Amino acid sequence: MDSSTAQSQAINVTLIGMALDLFLAGLKIIGGTLTQSFALVTDGIHSLTDAITDIFVLLVARFAHAAPDEEHPYGHGRFETLGTIGMGVVFFSTAAVLLYDSYQRLQNTEDLPVPAAAGLGIALLSIAGKEWIFHYTMRVAKRLNSNLLKANAWHSRSDAISSVAVLIGLIGAQQGYFWMDTLAAIFVACIIATIGWELCMDSLKELVDTSIPKQRRQQIQRCIMAVDGILGVTRLRSRSSGGKIILEVQLLVNPRISVSEGHQLGEIVSRSLTGNFSDVGDVIVHIDPETHNHDKALHDMELFGRENVLESIKERWQDLLTEEQIEEVSLHYLERGIEVDLTLRQAQISDALAQQLAAALEPLQAIASVRIYNKLHEASINQQLS
Ligand SMILES: [Zn+2]
Ligand SMILES: [Zn+2]
Repeated sequence: MDSSTAQSQAINVTLIGMALDLFLAGLKIIGGTLTQSFALVTDGIHSLTDAITDIFVLLVARFAHAAPDEEHPYGHGRFETLGTIGMGVVFFSTAAVLLYDSYQRLQNTEDLPVPAAAGLGIALLSIAGKEWIFHYTMRVAKRLNSNLLKANAWHSRSDAISSVAVLIGLIGAQQGYFWMDTLAAIFVACIIATIGWELCMDSLKELVDTSIPKQRRQQIQRCIMAVDGILGVTRLRSRSSGGKIILEVQLLVNPRISVSEGHQLGEIVSRSLTGNFSDVGDVIVHIDPETHNHDKALHDMELFGRENVLESIKERWQDLLTEEQIEEVSLHYLERGIEVDLTLRQAQISDALAQQLAAALEPLQAIASVRIYNKLHEASINQQLS
């Protein structure tokens, strides 16, 4: 089964759950009003908030994961975050209103209406429907190995419990304990408040750039270290955007490899992470030649820029070498100083000259070492590949 089939199956389950929630919401709000059960109305509002959440998730999956554009180069994940907070606030306020209503009802329990017995049937139907969708969603979740769907399934189970509370409240009210209907309503309103609270808190965590859990970071670190050529991870930063993880990794590599090989390693790490973890959305790679302290890096460009360093070196070599003899000078900026790799065009130089070249650089404080190579041969092969 490919990922698009799995995704469409997941969407199907969510759609069925949403339709059931909408149906139960209508049934309980209307039925609760007719049978004068406040608990049933509250449970109907609970189902409505669940349906709204599902619709939001489906819409987000459809539209909000639009590709980054010029105005939003980091993608549109945070729109989802913002929408979720808005939804959480609405749910939380709804719960507050319901709790206030319940409080007022409890002020005068003698005046409370007796809910009609028909409400019992509606509550039973709601419990049965929610239990059924719990088992159905769980079966699909296990087949697709989807934690998100498993969480959805458990939510359905908690919805069933919510309706059980309503059933108990209704039975109590039938027995003459009128306040039990309101007590059940308070219980359900607290569930709605919890949903609203969690939606808000999860999204706020995202907005203040909270890191992913330590266990996930360790998983990601292991995945990076499995790539050949990666000597270490000097820093791993993470945050989330619309449920997708954004990673910033600093990779320790052999300082002697070329820029393009370092870049290649970064690409491999990046692909390995997005390939292994479906919730990793973006990986920003920084290549470190050593476990350095960025504050101590030779960042004084005036002094240590390539032009400047080359000029100083060549000035000191002017009596020993001609410009034509030099094929290439590579500079390695490491913490202990700049390592100079000099490649000469001629095949041979004397030991004496080599020592003179090194000695000439001694007064330059920034230079840590010099290596001298001879260019022996260069051949282009398989040029069509380049
Ligand atoms: Zn619910
Ligand atoms: Zn660095």
